Amino acid sequence: MLHMSPAPRTLRVRSPFVAALAALLLTLCCLPAAASGPAPGRPVPADSYDRSRCGNTSKRVLLTLDDWSYDHAERATEVGAYLKGRRIRAAFFLINEYASQYPEVARTLRRQGHWVGNHTWSHPHLTGLSEEAARKEIGDGVKSSLFRPPYGDYGPREERIAADRGARVCTWTVDTLDWEGGDGRFPDVATLRARVRNAPAADKRGGVILGHLFSRFPDAVPGIVDDLRDQGYSLCRNTGPTTTVIADPLRC
Ligand SMILES: [Zn+2]
Repeated sequence: MLHMSPAPRTLRVRSPFVAALAALLLTLCCLPAAASGPAPGRPVPADSYDRSRCGNTSKRVLLTLDDWSYDHAERATEVGAYLKGRRIRAAFFLINEYASQYPEVARTLRRQGHWVGNHTWSHPHLTGLSEEAARKEIGDGVKSSLFRPPYGDYGPREERIAADRGARVCTWTVDTLDWEGGDGRFPDVATLRARVRNAPAADKRGGVILGHLFSRFPDAVPGIVDDLRDQGYSLCRNTGPTTTVIADPLRC
């Protein structure tokens, strides 16, 4: 029979005090954040939630990078590392058909302090699908509480399916149209910078900027950050690793 040290008994004697202290600390600091519903007196998210701002109630700008970099999977984590270096948190909405083949990409992005959202399995126009097919596309997307419907194409049905999975719709306020070259090429860095620089202030302050991982947008990110800061905007702050659960309002 082993002899126990006196330490456990000491702990037991002190435990009512420890429990009381823990309960007090929980009440003081942690309970509101841990609760699942809104605090009493606060409007429920469904009434106040601005889908195009994704729950960004700060005045800061959220950069979002969508889809996938088809010729270079690590492009996402490279731009992620760059943004982390500038203490900026971005959101990446990855097409899971590709992201699931490179699970390290989403893991690394979250470790870098970025949000990773659901952008469906294969990027279809959801409203043209059957209920069953839409449910499967959203269900097979990246696990996340932010959901961005491809092409911004969604209705009440898509919103309900996402909500069933604990996700809220997140679109954008500034579209860089970085995928649309006209002449078969993507718009260049200077063009993308100018589009963000010239976007309305109301769409930038507390807004959400949309670009894509396969275009020139990642190359334009350093200049876009410089321009936004020159114009007096701040960007969502990188406060360390994230998870699949993304708070509303966003912690920008
Ligand atoms: Zn997309």
